[in-house]
Amino acid sequence: ERTDKKAYEEAQKRLKMAEDDQRNMLPELRKRSRWEYLKKREEEKLEDLEAEIIDDEYLFSKEELTERETRELEYKRTLRDLAKDYKQAGAKEQEERKNRYYMPEERRSKDVPQRDLELDEAPMELGGEQGRWEEERLKTASLSFGARKERELGLKQEQDRYQLVLEEEEMIDFVSTAITMKGTRSDKDEAESALSQAELKKRSMQEVRRSLPIFPYREDLLAAITEHQILVIEGETGSGKTTQIPQYLLEDGYTKGGMKIGCTQPRRVAAMSVAARVAEEMSVKLGNEVSPEVGYSIRFEDCTSERTVLKYMTDGMLLREFLTEPDLASYSVIIIDEAHERTLHTDILFGLIKDIARFRPDLKVLVASATLDTERFSCFFDDAPVFRIPGRRFPVDIFYTKAPEADYLGACVVSVLQIHVTQPPGDILVFLTGQEEIEACCEMLQERCRRLGSKIAELVVLPIYANLPSDMQAKIFSPTPPGARKVVVATNIAETSLTIDGIIYVIDPGFCKQKSYNARTGMESLIVTPCSRASANQRAGRAGRVAAGKCFRLYTAWAFKHEMEETTVPEIQRTNLGNVVLLLKSLGRSEETAAMLARRCPPCSLLCVCAGINDLIHFDFMDPPPHETLVLALEQLYALGALNHLGELTKLGRRMAELPVDPMLSKMILASEQYKCSEEVLTIAAMLSVNNSIFYRPKDKVVHADNARMNFVVPGGDHLVLLNVYTQWVESGYSTQWCYENFIQFRSMRRARDVRDQLEGLMERIEVEVVSCSGDNVPIRKAVTAGYFYHTARLSKGGYRTVKHQQTVFVHPNSSLFEEQPRWLIYHELVFTTKEFMRQVTAALLHVIEIDSGWLLEVAPHYYKSKE
Ligand code: ADP
Ligand code: MG
Repeated sequence: ERTDKKAYEEAQKRLKMAEDDQRNMLPELRKRSRWEYLKKREEEKLEDLEAEIIDDEYLFSKEELTERETRELEYKRTLRDLAKDYKQAGAKEQEERKNRYYMPEERRSKDVPQRDLELDEAPMELGGEQGRWEEERLKTASLSFGARKERELGLKQEQDRYQLVLEEEEMIDFVSTAITMKGTRSDKDEAESALSQAELKKRSMQEVRRSLPIFPYREDLLAAITEHQILVIEGETGSGKTTQIPQYLLEDGYTKGGMKIGCTQPRRVAAMSVAARVAEEMSVKLGNEVSPEVGYSIRFEDCTSERTVLKYMTDGMLLREFLTEPDLASYSVIIIDEAHERTLHTDILFGLIKDIARFRPDLKVLVASATLDTERFSCFFDDAPVFRIPGRRFPVDIFYTKAPEADYLGACVVSVLQIHVTQPPGDILVFLTGQEEIEACCEMLQERCRRLGSKIAELVVLPIYANLPSDMQAKIFSPTPPGARKVVVATNIAETSLTIDGIIYVIDPGFCKQKSYNARTGMESLIVTPCSRASANQRAGRAGRVAAGKCFRLYTAWAFKHEMEETTVPEIQRTNLGNVVLLLKSLGRSEETAAMLARRCPPCSLLCVCAGINDLIHFDFMDPPPHETLVLALEQLYALGALNHLGELTKLGRRMAELPVDPMLSKMILASEQYKCSEEVLTIAAMLSVNNSIFYRPKDKVVHADNARMNFVVPGGDHLVLLNVYTQWVESGYSTQWCYENFIQFRSMRRARDVRDQLEGLMERIEVEVVSCSGDNVPIRKAVTAGYFYHTARLSKGGYRTVKHQQTVFVHPNSSLFEEQPRWLIYHELVFTTKEFMRQVTAALLHVIEIDSGWLLEVAPHYYKSKE
């Protein structure tokens, strides 16, 4: 057995080496994602190689081959033999692996279901026993949910009550297609669980901690962490990964000597809320008010102190820590949590952390994920073992609409009310795509409840999204008052990052907001798109945590099958990489290495950034970004002056990387130094960072709100309007009342102020003096142009055309320049809005300013001259 293993390892090593050397000869392997490649290499490569060798031998006689071709053939033969060895040895290894992974009792064997999340789908054909049963189910399903059943049963009272709430034509017809998500608990457990839920509230926090699914595995988990440097942890959402594992590690002494435990989250809200929860859990034990040992760090907000040893942070923040501490020396453990989300920053962290783990054997790396994709993580981290926390979930019945729903927002409102009046107690979770939709939905629900008054039981409507202030965020966790029902309207943050107890019903319109990036044109936009089937299943899973639940999908079963993607494309493949490339560059290579790379690869015609590309091509990506995206990012950084023609970071680039904002924005800030208007530009940057949520426009006061907004208009454009709003707010003494009177959102302003303070604090580090241009707006507009000249558009027939790619775009109606339509514009971002039914795209320009085309040469001479 020993020899087998050795032979296998030896073969593997040799194969890897041979491959590394000869990558260029197998370009298709390089293109393929790493996972696919690994999965297929045994069978496919062997076959391919066999075929190639046979071809070569068949087509050419020995004499006909050139020396080089002979060598290639020789190489292929060697590779084939190695692959054969590998395959033979691999079969044994596979056998072993089966027994090695999947601790503790959930060892994988053929009779244990691989995923408890799998759909248990009955065959669709009708007729026969199966068909009859299905028809039966369909009938009961559409009847049990809606008014008809009550009517048939003659429950007059119920019916009246129902009709008071919903018009019949408004009602949504749901069907169940006999699809149930399997649970790991039987219905028998249900009563027991309901009981324990009631009891749970009375229990102490320590008891709650002990009741989490992860608790029985505490010792096993700690032992596995001791044994392995890198461990992948898989567990159903809500099993306690995020809140418990760091505490276990702390209790086990991983923070001795002031070492820290870091835990990354893809979302700010999750980092904040989880840190608050853990601080609370730990304080109860320590008897403090809040535990000083727990802190969090998100962009523009650092809530940690000297005493913080348990640090929750966004993945982007940990990435930035590499700038100051390239080996993360102050951490004993790094937990990359929510790994399945595959955000851009998480993906980059994978590569960097895998790298430093090699020369920091004392660093423990935990990759935690919901029940998705764990094999891939294991594979990427050199076959790290997977620790699987057995899930606990009740079955969830899944309902689809009979026909597509045109207006999913309206459909959500109706479904909530439908559930509220017809279904037994249990809270509701609704998934929408963003703040605007969520606020609209909550308003509509509250409005209808107000009108119905005491005719229906109390409905507690609670929103949750990224920009919601933290005190409001905390509300979603507070228990529902007796007799009432809670509705949480959330973005996909509630998909896996946050667990809200007590949810029995899930409403899923099947959409999410996604970044999409066109690598050809460099246009990035946020678009509402159908979510993936994997997402939909995670969402449904939220209904089965405390008892058997129901998930209402506001789309048809057909759409689920045919219109949705299997999984979500990792962000790295659909986003602008400017930010990350700049960061990696500044983490990066010494000047000698860069120079050496540049020498090895002579400047190519493109932009002479080969050295840069090579650098990044060798980065260990789990899924590499498209080549064009990388090139475009490098090109953009070159245009901004952050990279030189060799792809090396310039002094300006190094300073730009210090600011935690997009390259264009940081260029704008740095340009304000030259134009002596940093005071104003900092304000504009801060105002731009709060996401279009400055102006408040309540439905019943639209005219007032629009008038108030008009009062802020100054000539020049929206950047200057934002500056004007902020300046007036400062003059009012940061007044809440002032905001209220002027239809300005106070919390957005407060956030802008925080962001501004943070940015101002960084100015010293990058040696920019904070000075004001006192009233002259030309320097300000020049600084904006210096950052955003890439986003230039020119008035033309039927709208504007972007200078760079001749795309037609339009001014957003909210803009102060909507009526003016100046000849040239600079825009901050493009926002595309789509709805499924229209399938039309309206583009809008935001924060535009008029510019003189001559300025472009002044702000980016090397770029615009080279285009002539
Ligand atoms: P996982 O990371 O495995 O999804 P968590 O550690 O986030 O699980 O959650 C474990 C438990 O802690 C859940 O039952 C959840 O309800 C509870 N919990 C988490 N955050 C909070 C909070 N802010 N308030 C109340 N309960 C919370
Ligand atoms: Mg979690």
